[in-house]
Amino acid sequence: MDMDLDRCGDTISLSPSKIICMLRNYRAHASELNNPVPDRINFFLKPPSSLLREGGSIIKPTEVVRLHHEVELAVVMADRCRDLTPETAIGHVLGYMLMLDLTARDIQDDARSKGLPWTQAKGYDTFAPYLSRIVGPDEFDWRDRRIYLLVNSMVRQEGNTSDMVFPVEDIICYVSRIMTLERGDIIMTGTPSGVGPLNAGDEVRAGIEGIGEALFNVIDQM
Ligand code: MG
Repeated sequence: MDMDLDRCGDTISLSPSKIICMLRNYRAHASELNNPVPDRINFFLKPPSSLLREGGSIIKPTEVVRLHHEVELAVVMADRCRDLTPETAIGHVLGYMLMLDLTARDIQDDARSKGLPWTQAKGYDTFAPYLSRIVGPDEFDWRDRRIYLLVNSMVRQEGNTSDMVFPVEDIICYVSRIMTLERGDIIMTGTPSGVGPLNAGDEVRAGIEGIGEALFNVIDQM
């Protein structure tokens, strides 16, 4: 699926080959779901077909009871690369962006209890909403940035990127030693605490200081 991003007024068209998502990368979020803080980097994949540009409608699938929001800082890769080091990683970043990692929590909990993959819980269409504005690494430092999400004007998530367990450079480096990263690939860096339910009719507003804010509404699957 194509993704049009806006960087300093220029439109950049990308077709990400994969969306890589960290799990439990903020201490408070790991505890709120009764998970230990990880001692190593862990991630899963979302399909590019789950992308949804800002202003769009998040579709709550009929069979999903608990649809949860997770606001995350994401990086978009600039070129094909692998085997990066923490020192070289940021040189391969096209920009930083705001994304949501929507999760069918009931389906995820069921899969987790059975030791099964999370692909369905994370992979529905519209489960990767994004703000099309990206900010280059030359003008944005990912550290110490406010990251937040409101539902119907009520604050649900309020965190700071400094609370990440693993820094962005280490995440990119780790992933690049496992899979070749392509231009346009997205790495989502995990969510702060406060994840919670979304239902049809909800208005979602999410933001990261220094990047911007995105708006979405939620509808039931027809
Ligand atoms: Mg997440």
